[in-house]
Parts: sequence; structure tokens; C-alpha cells
Amino acid sequence: MELIDCHAHLTDAAFLPEQAAIIEAARDAGVKKIVCAGYDLSSSQNALELAKNQQGIFSAAGIHPENLADFEDVLENVAKGVEKEQKCEKNAPKFSCGDEIFDEDFCQNARNALEKDFCKIEKIAGEAKVVAIGEIGLDYHFLEFLDKKKVEKIGEKMTENEKENIKNLQKWAFLAQIELANKLHKPIVVHSRDAMGDTLQILKNHPLPKNSLLHCYSGSLESAKELMTMGFSFSFGGVVTFKNAKTVQEVVKNLPIERILLETDCPYMSPEPFRGQRNEPKNVVYVADQIARLKGLPIEDVCRITTQNAEKLFGI
Ligand SMILES: [Zn+2]
Repeated sequence: MELIDCHAHLTDAAFLPEQAAIIEAARDAGVKKIVCAGYDLSSSQNALELAKNQQGIFSAAGIHPENLADFEDVLENVAKGVEKEQKCEKNAPKFSCGDEIFDEDFCQNARNALEKDFCKIEKIAGEAKVVAIGEIGLDYHFLEFLDKKKVEKIGEKMTENEKENIKNLQKWAFLAQIELANKLHKPIVVHSRDAMGDTLQILKNHPLPKNSLLHCYSGSLESAKELMTMGFSFSFGGVVTFKNAKTVQEVVKNLPIERILLETDCPYMSPEPFRGQRNEPKNVVYVADQIARLKGLPIEDVCRITTQNAEKLFGI
């Protein structure tokens, strides 16, 4: 059986210095291709380097919504009472922000810095082994995390205005990277967590690459159907093996197998029976096994079809 892990983070520190052994173990387990996803500038660069040096490894380049700025650093400095060291540049593009911690200057500076990063991402993504722009998207769950951090640091919750600022920054960065994908004619790999409404809104209202991927899909069947009409496929990882993941399992049952890809999102999201441990690409077979069970198909068929789906989507 041959499989493809279409979303892994092989350059993560959790894998060093065993990276080569982990790739070898994946090959032994029948994982013939792996797409190593970027989540910021350096991981995108590292993923490309790895892909260049290894047969069967491909990469995606992009900036994840959690990594658009050093949000924790901002909170840290606020807690310490450090003055903002930098005023935003003149002539910078207008950005609607409030006058809070994540204020106009912060968002503007973040946006200016990101524009420079996107130029570098564009350069990386122009390389043949980079097969997609990703992972990019919206993550509103992250706002809850920041909210807790802010309470921890300064004993105050985030204001609605601050939340709105960060959402706006995420939307802007998502769109900028979609545009980049269109320019380079490469698919996008979308991350969407607790933000399906806004994700759909953006995807519906902008030109998109022809075929793209919603990774670690956790939305409803209804949203999935809408996304399918826009040319999206869906990748599933360890979550689908969890006992309490009834919604995801229902979605898998009802989606055509031709739109399903397999992923690990390693080192995160280990499937059962390894839940909670460090994940790696060889475990993608447990995802295949569960999808076969949910769809009442032989595992051989699931491996063959999902492999074809990944090869077609990424052109690999
Ligand atoms: Zn990921």
C-alpha cells in the first residue's frame, strides 16, 4: 500500500535530530510522498530546503494566522510596562484598528512587516518543489488563547476592539496570500479553526486557485458542500480516529472519497492508539484505516484513491 501524508511539519524542533530516521520510517510504512507545510517564514524556508534534498518530499510556503506577529511578545511588554518602540511608517496602507494594546500602530507595523515577509514567501514559493501556499487562513480559537495570556500577564481580558483588530489582521493576511497563490498558480492549503463563517465569506468573494485544500477539516457537512463547489478537497488527520469526533466522522462518511486526502499534521494530532504522543508521517495509515471503516471501503482503495487525489491536487 502506498500513502501520501499531505500535511506534516517535518522541520519542527520535535523531530530534530531524528528527522532522517523519521522520513525513513515513513517510507518503510509505505508513505511515498510527504508535503511539509510552512507556518512562518523560517519554517517555509526550512521545508523547501528539506524538499530539495529529499526525494518524495514536497513543501508548502505560507504564514499561519497565529504567526502573523509576535502577539505574546506584545503582551509580555505590556505586562512589563515597556513602551512601544516604534511608530508606524508614514504612507503605510490604511488599516482599521482600535486604540488598544493591539492598536493601529501594532496592526500597521505587523502589516508592514508581513508585506516584506510575503515577498520572501513569494520567492520561496516560486521554486518547483513548493507545491502550495500554506498553511494560511483564520484561527479565532487563538483569540481565546491570547485572552487567557492577557489575563495571566496583566489581569485584564481582551477588549472586543482588540479581538476585532486581530481578526482583521488575519483576514488581510489570508487574502494577501490567496492573491499570491493566484499569481503563482498554486493551490492554497487553508487552516480554519472556529472561523468557518468568515473563512467561507472570504473564499466565496475572491478569485481562488482552481483546486485547493481545507486541511484538518473540522467544519460542518453543509460548509463542506459549499467548499466543494469552489473546488476544495479536504484532508483529515488523527482527529478522525478520536471517539468523540462524531461530527468529523459524519462529514467523512458523507463526502465523496475523491475529495478526501490523508494527513498527520505531525508532530501534533496523533491518531489513536497514540493520542497525546508525538505524531509522525508513518502514522497516516491509522487515518486511512479509520476512513476505510467509516466509508465501508477496503483500506487499499482508500490509500490508492487518496494518493491519486493528493497527486492531482498538488501536481506531484
Ligand atoms: Zn499544520
